[in-house]
Amino acid sequence: MTEKLTPYLEQLLDKQSFEKQYLAKNEDILSPDDPLDEDSHEPVKGLIHKHKNRALIKLSYKCAAHCRFCTRIRQIGKPEGDISENDIESLIKYLSENKAITELILSGGDPLFTPKTLLLVLQQINKLTHIKIIRIGTRLPLQIPDFYKTNIYSEVFNLLKITASAKALYMLLHVEHPDEITTQVVDFLNFMKTQPVMLLSQSVFLKNVNNTVEILSDLFIKLIELGVKPYYIYHCDNVNGLEPFICDIKEEKKILQALKKTLSGLAVPQHILDTSKGKIRL
Ligand code: SF4
Repeated sequence: MTEKLTPYLEQLLDKQSFEKQYLAKNEDILSPDDPLDEDSHEPVKGLIHKHKNRALIKLSYKCAAHCRFCTRIRQIGKPEGDISENDIESLIKYLSENKAITELILSGGDPLFTPKTLLLVLQQINKLTHIKIIRIGTRLPLQIPDFYKTNIYSEVFNLLKITASAKALYMLLHVEHPDEITTQVVDFLNFMKTQPVMLLSQSVFLKNVNNTVEILSDLFIKLIELGVKPYYIYHCDNVNGLEPFICDIKEEKKILQALKKTLSGLAVPQHILDTSKGKIRL
């Protein structure tokens, strides 16, 4: 995986919380692993179907910046993840023929980083009445917080309003550390309060980045005060090369127990181990 940053993130690199997440060190973080066994559940290009009632669409393998601990580290940044109009047609046909699928997760890469593809896919999904729930997983607001002010994103948010008029729409922000909630990110979250999208967060326990009660307490309080419900905190995937990030699960459980004693129930996320067979609640 090549190192990639945005100008916004470059200004923040003096903070250890950013440096460790984004900058390559001596360790070689490059792996052929498929920890969630997605590649064998891709009936058409870009669509992962592992569970009867839900499917995940990878709009591309591209993101604004490259996180060293990414689950899909084997794919990130590669152009072969791009989906064409023909691919979109094929995956919409698959969804039309599989009416048991009621929930879609838009992912990648970062689905918000490829707005033209997102518009094409959403326009088609909006026509599928059996799709009731859509989740958009993104880290773009933490990497280019002003992205939503450009014209193409006005189109995206206008289309999302149409989506939300017929389906339940959630945005899952991928956020690891309270330092990431800058004034620009707060501005974005205030903008989101005007949008018909429910905001959730997902985080990963990362050794020497966020694995303390104090840091996570600060993060979850900030999020809940800004209208973002902390939803998941994952154990870091057991992917070759990610050893420097992986925390002890027993320590993670102790941190969660301590958070439950002090934070409101609304602010405490579920502790999740993601496996090739699905998610396990710890
Ligand atoms: S933004 Fe998300 S998908 Fe992209 S590299 Fe980071 S964790 Fe992976």
